[in-house]
Amino acid sequence: MISTVLDSKTIKKLYKRMVSIVGPENVHRQETDKVLNAHDAWPLSEAKLRAGEMLPLADLLVFPSSREEVAAVLVAANELEIPVTPVGGGAGTCGGTLPIYGGIQLDLKRMCEIYEIDDQSMTIRAQAGVVGIDLEEHANRHGYTLGHTPTSLRASNLGGFIATRSGGSMSSLYGKIEDLTLGLEVVLPDGSITKCKAAPRQSVGPDLRQLFIGSEGTLGVITEATLRLFPLPEERRFRSFTFPNVHSGLEAIRNIFRIGITPSIARLYDPEDAAMSFSMHFEFEEGHCMLLLGFDGDKVRVDFDERKSVDICAKLGGTDLGEGPSKRWWEHRYDMYYPTRLTTSGYAIGDTIDIVATYDKLERVYDSMKKAMEADDAIVMSHFSHMYQNGGSIYMIFFTSQPSAETAWATYKKIWDDGVAACLREGGTMSHQHGVGLSRSTYTEDELGSLFPVLKKIKEVLDPKGIMNPGKLGLGVRK
Ligand SMILES: Cc1cc2nc3c(=O)[nH]c(=O)nc-3n(C[C@H](O)[C@H](O)[C@H](O)COP(=O)(O)OP(=O)(O)OC[C@H]3O[C@@H](n4cnc5c(N)ncnc54)[C@H](O)[C@@H]3O)c2cc1C
Repeated sequence: MISTVLDSKTIKKLYKRMVSIVGPENVHRQETDKVLNAHDAWPLSEAKLRAGEMLPLADLLVFPSSREEVAAVLVAANELEIPVTPVGGGAGTCGGTLPIYGGIQLDLKRMCEIYEIDDQSMTIRAQAGVVGIDLEEHANRHGYTLGHTPTSLRASNLGGFIATRSGGSMSSLYGKIEDLTLGLEVVLPDGSITKCKAAPRQSVGPDLRQLFIGSEGTLGVITEATLRLFPLPEERRFRSFTFPNVHSGLEAIRNIFRIGITPSIARLYDPEDAAMSFSMHFEFEEGHCMLLLGFDGDKVRVDFDERKSVDICAKLGGTDLGEGPSKRWWEHRYDMYYPTRLTTSGYAIGDTIDIVATYDKLERVYDSMKKAMEADDAIVMSHFSHMYQNGGSIYMIFFTSQPSAETAWATYKKIWDDGVAACLREGGTMSHQHGVGLSRSTYTEDELGSLFPVLKKIKEVLDPKGIMNPGKLGLGVRK
């Protein structure tokens, strides 16, 4: 059993042990540091702090600089049965880094070395704590892109991307992080260091890399990774269309992918989100949806992809708005998400539920979730944000404003419960890119069904003392 509240004797012992591993300057125990790390970008954790509520704090913040130091920390934590919560950039939206049972927050930010670019194989190898934008800009200076451009690129780091199975805005063309990660180094809960070799693919049993991609710090600590690279595109072009309804917009996307074209960007905004995001800057008919398309590649390919896509959109009733809305979104994609704009003062709270479904279910999932969430006093607006050959994701944004903290937190929970239930009922999957963390932890069993015991068994084998990020991903939940 891991300890939930450490006594002062144990904290002293732990502090001494941590200092001996990473040095005194890299072990923090000040209250201010702990409070700053008590939340991530999960709107509920931020709203509760703003409302003056106290969140659980870590006992120590530890900043390792190498795989060996991470290993030594985990050996000590295992011996003393202390919870360890890894922290990447701290921009997760699901409370994954919240140290709900105290113990150590293991912050990887000092592990930010970029080791090498292999030009021949087009790969890049780096430590897990490197911030996304630093890695991307390093690749750019060598004529490459990671192809992984989540909106949190400036805030999140490599380990966090992999730990949450994240998806960038151009994932249709370049792939999601699980497609981009070739090699991986993970320190297991007992302190042993494991490596998955960088290989374009393998046929040696199940792909064990995928076990750790998306494990959210519950199965070990990611310390290094090798990612694929792509040459910077010769052309990057944008095109935008409005459609009279969600159905025709989705049909346009489905038909574009069906003939083998993979736009770098394919985002469809429903009427509410289109009005909110674009009506200030562009004129289009009220109640219409907005489709943003992007094309990357050499000129011949981009010409072809764009022409074919324009034909499909025109045939399905789209109105061509040129590059304007898409280009504007691209240029402002990093500054439109400031959390302060999402959750305002008082007991107004907003969040996003990102889900994914195949095309045959996508519209039903959208309609049912929207209906269920609106019935709970939520204002809902959505866009279909990451699209693929077989389906895509919906980014459902909701807001609610309540008279007291009590009703705000209860309404927020009901919106989530009913939204996720509607998604699962219609055959959707409850998370596309944000992971599970704490906010979706209680839904994991419903989502995974007969696979949930398998996940639990894997956890028990790799982490028998349950030290790694307890309470997240539906694992290690304590009463
Ligand atoms: C403004 C904004 C925009 C966003 N846009 C996107 C987007 O476009 N696409 C997308 O996918 N997500 C997006 N997110 C969500 C978030 O940024 C991603 O989930 C990101 O991958 C989290 O990385 P991080 O480094 O911030 O992780 P953190 O928040 O630090 O951690 C997330 C989880 O991973 C674990 N973890 C972190 N590092 C490690 C490690 N080295 N080893 C083991 N476990 C680890 C933590 O314990 C935690 O459970 C956005 C968030 C914000 C605030």
